[in-house]
Amino acid sequence: MAKLIIVSNRLPVKLQEKDGQLSYQASEGGLATGLGSFYKKENNLWIGWPGQVVSEEDKQERIIDDLNKENMHPVFLTETEIKEFYEGFSNETLWPTFHYFSQYAVYSQQLWETYVKVNQKYCDEVVKQAGPEDTIWVHDYQLLLLPSMLREKLPDSTIGFFQHIPFPSYEVFRLLPWRKELLEGMLGSDLVGFHTYDDMRHFLSSVNRIVGYGSTHGWINTPTRSLLVDSFPMGIDYDKYAGTAALEEVKRRENVYRGNLNAEKVILSIDRLDYSKGIAQRLEAFEKFLEKYPEFQQKVTLLMLVVPSRDAVEKYKELKEEVDELVGRINGKYSRISWNPIQYFYRSYPLETLSAFYRMADVGLVTPMRDGMNLVCKEFVASKLDQKGVLILSEMAGASKELSDAILINPNDINQMVEALHQALTMPEEEQITHMRNMQTSLQRYNIHHWVSMFMDRLSYVKIKQLSLA
Ligand code: UDP
Repeated sequence: MAKLIIVSNRLPVKLQEKDGQLSYQASEGGLATGLGSFYKKENNLWIGWPGQVVSEEDKQERIIDDLNKENMHPVFLTETEIKEFYEGFSNETLWPTFHYFSQYAVYSQQLWETYVKVNQKYCDEVVKQAGPEDTIWVHDYQLLLLPSMLREKLPDSTIGFFQHIPFPSYEVFRLLPWRKELLEGMLGSDLVGFHTYDDMRHFLSSVNRIVGYGSTHGWINTPTRSLLVDSFPMGIDYDKYAGTAALEEVKRRENVYRGNLNAEKVILSIDRLDYSKGIAQRLEAFEKFLEKYPEFQQKVTLLMLVVPSRDAVEKYKELKEEVDELVGRINGKYSRISWNPIQYFYRSYPLETLSAFYRMADVGLVTPMRDGMNLVCKEFVASKLDQKGVLILSEMAGASKELSDAILINPNDINQMVEALHQALTMPEEEQITHMRNMQTSLQRYNIHHWVSMFMDRLSYVKIKQLSLA
């Protein structure tokens, strides 16, 4: 029987080892939740890196056995592969380019060659596990070459690809020395999905200008086959976030935190440490806000969580220092004995704590310079059970296309952010409720399960359509 194989850089679990004992910690990420019910069914499979370098063969065998029982299969990567494929080409070449930070992009032939080699390694693992008629769903920018590599080995399989980060305009994408190879890699798919219509348009335009294939209504006709490109905005597990926010324990935590903060109003910002998230600009806007509207001093606190990320990459180390310094400067300038303008935490939190923060916040301040989707803003909205609270959201986040009831800002426009903060903090409650309700209605409907079924249905449709086009 044909099965579904999901392939992503990481498996939805992280391998842990303590005193020779192996354990697997489930990831709480949106993708893992959304695809959870699919890969665990029948003989379906999820293939990816288990999150740890394992070199001993007997240990690898044990891990394969353990994971196979849970419908997963590992791809083992070496120290060098992690450095050059993951930290290197994926995060120092593709990530900055795709987020419009080309000035940070490293162009290295060595990193590229490892990227090709590791994509081939994933391909070999998939081919060992796949039957000729299986459906394979490949995820994200670490595996752009995989669809074509698979197509060569499994010409009749159904291959979907989804990119979770933005796809930049042709003018930016063309800067990559390996632009043609990357596009050709993706074109092995039957369906290529992006979060937004703009990402999709950018991709089609690059394919046209770099590879020379035109398109009609998202269909690209290559000399040998047709494939479809479409947009699928990813949703969240709405019930999980709304349900967690309703827990007594979460309400209790909210009360404790609110008491400790000693502020009338709380602005919340949560992101991974990343230059694409606009953390420094956001801090600058908050500082200007306190300066322009001094009546809010000692009344408003910015609760800022920054989750450590990619700390082996130089640019991220520099950013950490910049953020530390900015927070120190602003707090140094405005703090009083009983009040700090910014409460800054550099760590990650479990769902119940995040949920208490979401509940507590009067304003959700999400201002990335560029973000494929951004799930934090959606989780904030889903957690607002009393529908009070205001979302300020960057136009550059994919989510802004769906959440037009937020106060939308350009993260480069510091004055606009200052005024948005003022507007949010003074917005009448009825108005807050109207906007929040509209956003909740849409997020509840277009949730993560809807996203998975839209993609899978579209993929089946493409296969049927291809037969009639052949
Ligand atoms: N998150 C978390 N713990 C934290 C902070 C964030 O689990 O302490 C989660 C958050 O709930 C969200 C995800 O990390 O689901 C971040 O996703 P988003 O799309 O906003 O940004 P990304 O990090 O993928 O660029």
